[in-house]
Amino acid sequence: MNGWKRQRHNTVGTVTPAIQLREVTKRYGKGPQAVLALDRVSADITRGTFTAVMGPSGSGKSTLLHCAAGLDRPTTGSIRLGSTELVRLKEAPLTRLRRSSMGFVFQAFNLVPSLTVEQNITLPLRLQGRRAERAWLGEIVARVGLTDRLNHVPSQLSGGQQQRVAIARALVNRPEVIFADEPTGSLDPGTAGDIIGLLRQAVTDMHQTVVMVTHDPVAAAHADAAVFLANGHIVSGMASPTVERVTAAMAGLRGAA
Ligand code: ADP
Repeated sequence: MNGWKRQRHNTVGTVTPAIQLREVTKRYGKGPQAVLALDRVSADITRGTFTAVMGPSGSGKSTLLHCAAGLDRPTTGSIRLGSTELVRLKEAPLTRLRRSSMGFVFQAFNLVPSLTVEQNITLPLRLQGRRAERAWLGEIVARVGLTDRLNHVPSQLSGGQQQRVAIARALVNRPEVIFADEPTGSLDPGTAGDIIGLLRQAVTDMHQTVVMVTHDPVAAAHADAAVFLANGHIVSGMASPTVERVTAAMAGLRGAA
């Protein structure tokens, strides 16, 4: 292990963080029924890196992602996107910030069924009253391999193609960070590999920052770093994860649970 357990602030890399979490606690419910989903979690996510968030079921992965993305509010603690403190923002500016500066890829794709591929991809821009630059749209559509599908609707696409639409939609804003929640959870292994490859390219070729919750060691092995959660704590971190090391770390966490 590389000392993550003992660090007060977990840091992936050395440059300015895209996201900074400090002492983030999330409690659901009150009194004896309360669940402490996150317990004073601190972490830095470096710009231009791909981070996998892993841990047993119920360890707090989704809660961490949702809080970091401003989809849920922590009970206490600080979450910064660049220099902006999310926990102080009211709902409307937080929604605007999500639309302008974050991209999302979910397990269930979350496309709008009645919109075409192109309309789904450009939706984050239209919600901000902006138009897509044709050259940029053409580039991302080509990158995800959907150039000949722009006028289809989601029901005419395979799961893998739908997730490509979601990735293009996440990229269209040139966001500060892309959050991916089990992006390969609904896909067969071959298609999953293609989707992880696209997220990897977004980081390597387009200098995006990706934070991905996954339970899949094969997916995590494409990341630059993995962080492991257990019982609402970050218990360890791993640079340059491999399938074998991630599998062993997960087995250790399950054994300890
Ligand atoms: P993971 O994504 O690692 O499976 P979650 O973040 O979903 O874990 O959940 C962490 C803990 O918080 C679990 O004990 C879960 O039951 C609890 N939890 C999550 N969401 C809620 C909620 N809306 N209300 C009450 N408890 C919740």
